Amino acid sequence: MNNNHSIQKKGKVYLVGAGPGDPGLITLRGKFLLQRADVVVYDYLANKKLLNYVPDDAEFIYAGKKGGGLHAFTQEGINQLLVDHATAGKRVVRLKGGDPFIFGRGAEEIEELVEAGIDFEVVPGVTSATAAATYAGIPITHRDYTASVAFVTGHEATGKKESNIAWDKLATGAGTIVIYMGIKNLPIITKKLMDNGRAPDTPVAVVRWASTPIQQSVVGTLETITEVVRKEGIKPPALVIVGEVVKLRKSIDWFEKRPLFGKRMVVTRTREQASELVSRLEEHGAECLEYSTIHIEVVDDYQLLDQAVANMESYDWILFTSLNAITYFFKRLNELGRDSRVLAGIRIGAVGRATADALLQYGLLADLIPEKFTGAGLAESLIAGKEKGKNVKGKNILLPRALKAMETLPEMLNDAGATVTVAPVYRNVPPKGRRDELCAQLREGEIDLLTFTSSSTVTNFLTMVDADSPEQLRKLLDGVKIAAIGPITAETVTDNGLTVDIQPDNYTIIDMVDAIVDYYEC
Ligand code: SAH
Repeated sequence: MNNNHSIQKKGKVYLVGAGPGDPGLITLRGKFLLQRADVVVYDYLANKKLLNYVPDDAEFIYAGKKGGGLHAFTQEGINQLLVDHATAGKRVVRLKGGDPFIFGRGAEEIEELVEAGIDFEVVPGVTSATAAATYAGIPITHRDYTASVAFVTGHEATGKKESNIAWDKLATGAGTIVIYMGIKNLPIITKKLMDNGRAPDTPVAVVRWASTPIQQSVVGTLETITEVVRKEGIKPPALVIVGEVVKLRKSIDWFEKRPLFGKRMVVTRTREQASELVSRLEEHGAECLEYSTIHIEVVDDYQLLDQAVANMESYDWILFTSLNAITYFFKRLNELGRDSRVLAGIRIGAVGRATADALLQYGLLADLIPEKFTGAGLAESLIAGKEKGKNVKGKNILLPRALKAMETLPEMLNDAGATVTVAPVYRNVPPKGRRDELCAQLREGEIDLLTFTSSSTVTNFLTMVDADSPEQLRKLLDGVKIAAIGPITAETVTDNGLTVDIQPDNYTIIDMVDAIVDYYEC
């Protein structure tokens, strides 16, 4: 349990703005509170990725609330939930989309807490109106166009007389008008604005799922926007921005112009390793669906490694061919009560730059990084023995690696006269679950690109989609492009009857992302 966090007996509710969608737009205070929450009550509009900040042992409660759809809880139910958990001494984070005090019913929740005598704090958030405008390339104010902006709810515009909105004053009184929850009533809203004197050719933008990879924006005028929205099938959540500033979108639009915007990519890596590729692709605007096609597990039997560690001084070289090999080698070493010092005097080879960088974290500098970042490349440069007389003949080489892996490296070294000890330190197993979701998305043509960063990601992906025949596989992947990090991965793709569309010259994540960007920019 969160004992260290709940030293205070008295509970407290933190009403936190999650921001508009992009998880990077939460405040530092909001993130800090999520990291210390005992209970999180979150909404439909709050990005679920933010929940990754919350400790695993916290309680997660989905409060629902999808405009017009099913409510998981009534407002009274939510209020009661907050009161109950806080009374039980919990630190409760109530996470709401955008800013909690802008059309968020945040005030009603706070009033309830005040009545119950419960401590609270409110953390503002980036409201979706400013985010939608910014991410659609529309400055909501501009000296040349408007000096005022109004935030309005579109819920009230039901055509009934008792609206709280003074449309007659609003229509021409505010330079820019941003309407929340306005899609359903868009025909009424635009009519009210025009009837009350706003020019029918006033530019209007509608922005859906602002600041997320699936953001969609359309532009029209007060007169045309209803039809544009209908034609494009724009549904909530969306904001309507009315005013001359919308014209600036033409030159300022930046978010949707990024090279990978609108492209949906499957990232097939281990859960632990996906983040670098994902964050780099997202920087360029891609939407990444993370499928962990490999699940890494420890091996049942460490006998070979333990023996090697006990006789470490008999080895001349130790070779690391993957990040996992490094992680699991040192994990076991620590379990044996040892550390990097057992490698004193032993030369170290790393298959590539990323592996060499990972070794630095253990205070180790690789003695050898081959020009070609493959097992064969490593074997070749070892055998070539850059320094005279130091080739591998008669040398003892330790290779901690996956239980099942390509035998090229040890075979080449054995053939060159070395003695290689292959010590399994981890194994790859295909993960369960999420298969149906992936297949459905492929079938529906919702995926643009598959990324493969190793041969095993390819084979595990194929196990996961489980096609009956190469024809069926090709049909499933019809129109889907494939990126492979290097030649071995590419070979595994082609061996399975598929075509590689993107392959970088250097086998690194950075080069792979560059190659993907180049491909889509052409
Ligand atoms: N408190 C929230 C607003 C909640 S009302 C805020 O400050 O943003 C819900 C409405 O907000 C939706 O109907 C939609 O009009 C708007 N909205 C919220 N997030 C949005 C997003 N990412 N893109 C477009 N509109 C959004």
